[in-house]
Amino acid sequence: MKVLKFGGTSVGKPERMHSIAKLISDKDQKIVVLSAVSGTTNALVDISAKFSKGDKAAGLKAIDDLFKPFYYDFVTALYSTDEGKKGGKAIIDFHYTNLKAYAEKPFGEKETKEVLAEGELISTKLFQEYLKEQRCNSLLLPALDFMKTDADSEPLLGYIEEKLTAILKKNEGIQLYITQGYICRNSDGGIDNLKRGGSDYTGTLIGAAIRSEEIQIWTDIDGMHNNDPRIVKKTFPIPEISFDEAAELAYFGAKILHPTCIRPAHERKVPVRLLNTMQPEQKGTVINSKPSDREFTAIAAKDNITAIKIKSVRMLNAYGFLRKVFEIFEKYKTPVDMITTSEVALSLTIDDDKNLDKILGELKEFCIVEVDKDQTIVCIVGSFGQDKTGASIKIFEALCAVPLRMISYGGSNHNVSVLIKGENKVEALTALNEGLFQKELVK
Ligand code: ADP
Ligand code: ASP
Ligand code: MG
Repeated sequence: MKVLKFGGTSVGKPERMHSIAKLISDKDQKIVVLSAVSGTTNALVDISAKFSKGDKAAGLKAIDDLFKPFYYDFVTALYSTDEGKKGGKAIIDFHYTNLKAYAEKPFGEKETKEVLAEGELISTKLFQEYLKEQRCNSLLLPALDFMKTDADSEPLLGYIEEKLTAILKKNEGIQLYITQGYICRNSDGGIDNLKRGGSDYTGTLIGAAIRSEEIQIWTDIDGMHNNDPRIVKKTFPIPEISFDEAAELAYFGAKILHPTCIRPAHERKVPVRLLNTMQPEQKGTVINSKPSDREFTAIAAKDNITAIKIKSVRMLNAYGFLRKVFEIFEKYKTPVDMITTSEVALSLTIDDDKNLDKILGELKEFCIVEVDKDQTIVCIVGSFGQDKTGASIKIFEALCAVPLRMISYGGSNHNVSVLIKGENKVEALTALNEGLFQKELVK
């Protein structure tokens, strides 16, 4: 059974829902994962922020702005029968009323997570109602019945496999199973989510859990490009890349994939295909186990990085120093991305600066600390094994006009990373595109 995930733009208009219903209409059994209609999760983040601040009137107005007339017009255009329109309107009325009720309750983190879940609950119900109208044999599987994370917000693949297998066994003979991306239950049983862009993760977790033949991620672009198409003018799709390369690109900022969604597919060797809903005839990108021997595959960038330089004379010739430093990051559950060291100083980067002040407070007890915010990690993915020569000179020649704060080479065979100021990102990505992909660009 294949797993197909459709992103926000792919379900963003009634006619797009019509198109994806056609795309999945062959007789093969499938699990279809849907995101919220594009713009909805952003609106829900905004509504939650207003309620969290206690600004009820602004929260209620933002709910009205989201629903009226958008979702009511959406259902009018989505369905062709009176029965379908009535069913669709009932779904929207239910969620509209449900959201407005939050104005009357104390509003905290738990309520925020519940509000954020509304987008995927709405899109899947609307779509399944449409399939019903089209007399298509489908079933809505509530993701909250099987998608679960542990106390560290890590998905529990074994649990998901066990629950989902049992649910599918109980509901055999259905052609299309529809479920929500993004949403899950946490270790307390409360409603939670897999972080922004998390529907990709739902897709790969389900694909891994049922050991699917293929996971398809349908989006608004024809596959993984060699560089960020939002920033660089000339980019091109890559037909085939390895799990390792895709994982690095996703983690280091290629927005087409959720940062950690490749892990479950890689673990269970389920190929992932990236496809364009608007141009389904395009080949897209397939991500699989085949190692690639391209010198350069692609470039990605991760913004809002904080660099911390830690200096101490006691570092000189000392053992145990690094352990002491990393224990602090571990204590505050803050992952470290890049690291470089010298005799007397250590530079590292973090993405999540929620606990920065506490971390700095503890570091300052035994070191001198300097902090630079608004940095960007630029990640160059390719084949940089220890027997290869010449790649670094091409990278640094391309980047000759960009000031570099940190360089990381040799951590992985697939990744060379540099840390630059955020303001230099466009220049760096453009220079690397011209310097490393000249041959492909003139084709
Ligand atoms: P969806 O809503 O379908 O999940 P996303 O907006 O999350 O879609 O991801 C698709 C977008 O990712 C593309 O429209 C593109 O602008 C952006 N993107 C960033 N880097 C890349 C890349 N290397 N290749 C392809 N798309 C990329
Ligand atoms: N709707 C969620 C978001 O916008 C999840 C997703 O689209 O993947 O982040
Ligand atoms: Mg996405």
